[in-house]
Amino acid sequence: SGRIIGLDIGGTKTHGLLLQHGTAAAEAVAGSANVQNVSPAQAAANLAEIFAALGAGAVERVIAGSGGIDTDDDAAALRALIAEQVPGAVIDVIHDTRLILAAGESPAGIAVIAGTGSVAWGQAPDGREARSGGWGYLLGDEGSGYWIAREAVRRTLRRMNLGLEPDPLAAALLPACSVRAPEELISLFHAPATGRRYWAGKAGIVFEAADAGSAAAAEIIEAASRHLAGLAADTARLLGITGPVVIGGGLGVNQPLLQAQLRQDLERAGLADIRFLTQDPVYGVRYLTAGQAPRG
Ligand code: BGC
Repeated sequence: SGRIIGLDIGGTKTHGLLLQHGTAAAEAVAGSANVQNVSPAQAAANLAEIFAALGAGAVERVIAGSGGIDTDDDAAALRALIAEQVPGAVIDVIHDTRLILAAGESPAGIAVIAGTGSVAWGQAPDGREARSGGWGYLLGDEGSGYWIAREAVRRTLRRMNLGLEPDPLAAALLPACSVRAPEELISLFHAPATGRRYWAGKAGIVFEAADAGSAAAAEIIEAASRHLAGLAADTARLLGITGPVVIGGGLGVNQPLLQAQLRQDLERAGLADIRFLTQDPVYGVRYLTAGQAPRG
């Protein structure tokens, strides 16, 4: 049929792309279908929404890049959910980092995601692969949107413990979370109504505060950048390469302050050819299907 669907399944949203004989024919966005952080029922509902928006008709192949795919079982679970939507299609489930490098149109290099979660993954010209981090928000995801917002909450709580008045970062954070006092942040943080996506969505507050001159916010962003650059450097060292480094994820693509800091930290770590993605990762599917088959 010549119809291929690409999916980029991040921690916050799912982006779908329909390719018809290699040409982008439709796009759609829905909530996350990442089986690491939404229920299978929620993932299925969001996938159904994407496939409906991309239009009916026979689909030959689906390539889905997703966070939270660490084992064959993870991949099989997502593949089964996709198969319900497109019976008969060939379905490749790959880690979301693969789409970053492919969207950067590079067969080799290091992909960094600074989004809801964080991770670095790379591939050497000889095909060897390596990965650093990307263990999810409970275990790691340093430098991610979730991590940045959590740091802002922690700093606000520390000031409270020290008997200090809320600083500009705290003053921005509290109303953004609809609370009046720092101590309310503790139960809010643990409430079922918040969680990984809620907090990752608050990272923007920290960037705004840094722009407005908050030293605390700037320090958090500097620390995030150091963590992300560290992940990239570990991957580069394992592979014996220095670039290109392709950076994606909501923060990696949209936050100039993080980008400037990251460029500096990556260069300081000896990495070169640093690229911030300018096309959506889901477009990596076009590169993958035009060239070699996607890797596991
Ligand atoms: C997930 C990884 C993913 C990363 C970036 C993390 O939370 O555990 O699998 O690659 O976020 O999306």
